Amino acid sequence: MTKCRLWTVPTMHEFSICQSMIKQVDAIAREHSSKSVQLIQLQIGPLSGIDTTLLKHAFPMASTGTIAEGAELLIEQLSINIRCLNCGKESSVEINKLVCQYCHHTETQLLSGDEMLLHSVKLADI
Ligand SMILES: [Zn+2]
Repeated sequence: MTKCRLWTVPTMHEFSICQSMIKQVDAIAREHSSKSVQLIQLQIGPLSGIDTTLLKHAFPMASTGTIAEGAELLIEQLSINIRCLNCGKESSVEINKLVCQYCHHTETQLLSGDEMLLHSVKLADI
């Protein structure tokens, strides 16, 4: 399965996000000469600003008439990971608590949690 970083767009509307994601899926399907898609797996970080519920609602409409029509959409929430600028350790934290788990320093660098990844696409058998 392919894994690629697609975008980090905090303010884009969910419908547009769906359309962009379907374009990527369409390209992958074409590459493999497949005519339909069974399953799309997305990974979304809590800091991406993307409402996963809205995204799921937008998907059936956005996918109508595309290769992704009728495909199942699975969304996995990613965790937020930070690196402490004081002690250098990495922690997995809550959305509203971006502090180091070891020394409780608040100056941290975001490692992940603001992205949206197209994790995998399952194509129908040709
Ligand atoms: Zn620390």
